[in-house]
Amino acid sequence: MHHDVVIVGGGSAGLSAAQALARARRRVVVVDAGAPRNRFASAVHNVFGHDDTPPETLLAKGRTELLRYPTASVIAGTVVDAAPAGSGFSLALADGRALQTRTLILAGGVRDVLPPLDGLAARWGRSVLHCPYCHGFEVAGRALGVFAADAMGLHRALMLPDWGPTTCFLEHGFEPDADDARKLANRGVVLERAPVIRLLGTAPALDGVQLADGRRVAIDALFVGSRVEPVDGLAASLGCVQDMGPLGPHLRVDAFKQTTVPGVFAAGDLSQPMHSVPLAVASGLLAGVGAHQALIAVDAG
Ligand SMILES: Cc1cc2nc3c(=O)[nH]c(=O)nc-3n(C[C@H](O)[C@H](O)[C@H](O)COP(=O)(O)OP(=O)(O)OC[C@H]3O[C@@H](n4cnc5c(N)ncnc54)[C@H](O)[C@@H]3O)c2cc1C
Repeated sequence: MHHDVVIVGGGSAGLSAAQALARARRRVVVVDAGAPRNRFASAVHNVFGHDDTPPETLLAKGRTELLRYPTASVIAGTVVDAAPAGSGFSLALADGRALQTRTLILAGGVRDVLPPLDGLAARWGRSVLHCPYCHGFEVAGRALGVFAADAMGLHRALMLPDWGPTTCFLEHGFEPDADDARKLANRGVVLERAPVIRLLGTAPALDGVQLADGRRVAIDALFVGSRVEPVDGLAASLGCVQDMGPLGPHLRVDAFKQTTVPGVFAAGDLSQPMHSVPLAVASGLLAGVGAHQALIAVDAG
């Protein structure tokens, strides 16, 4: 086997896993397609030591740090197939290259599936936001909107008044029960039941929303819960079991990020129900250590 570990995905999780392995002097290669989930945002927040840094700057620093280690390398490319081969795994890249590895870390992340409302995608990460902890401070004190079609939407609506005056747009006929309605009122959240049919303003800025009954509501930022799904189908084709989280599926892993398939580890958003850069970094470290310990166990016999 040419590599001890191949890591699919060079986002925060994959680079963190690679650093742990490179520092353990193992032959590790990261294959990265270069499309991290937060690429739509102008900066990352709530990342200790790196607050307000452009996502591409943070990842470029991570790659530079990694490449100081002689046993680490990064390949720009997309892994399109992964299969067991001998005592390890064989990977196929879209450009025809092939890699052989003893262990595998899946860190390809998830993609956001947005509600099908015209104009949402063009504002994603700028004025249409997924998480107040990541981007709420930047719109604090301004008129905020939030979509709610379920308990997660209500959860967001209850939080948002800490950042600004909040209008909650109830979707698809969703209605909070009496207890939730009381809590929302206590938090000063205004409820709107007319469907939102259009976003107003020049993207990526937002001036407000157009309601189906003809009214317009002025808001500066809209919080929307996306559904998530794995970026690639590698875990599914390898037979890794997944569980369902509040936003979508994630792989079932143990404390050191081993999936249900021996030798296959997972890190980052793909491996856990809660998503953030620091959580991805932490899970990458665990996966790196997990893969390293698995290699030692085989080498020790
Ligand atoms: C708009 C937005 C803004 C956000 N802002 C913040 C924030 O401010 N602070 C914060 O903490 N979190 C933020 N997040 C969450 C954060 O982006 C994720 O939690 C984090 O990026 C997860 O890291 P990851 O390494 O698991 O995945 P990613 O960062 O998505 O990286 C995965 C990498 O793997 C590559 N890849 C995928 N499949 C393959 C394949 N088959 N072959 C090769 N490469 C592959 C991708 O191209 C990508 O480069 C935000 C999310 C969104 C959607």
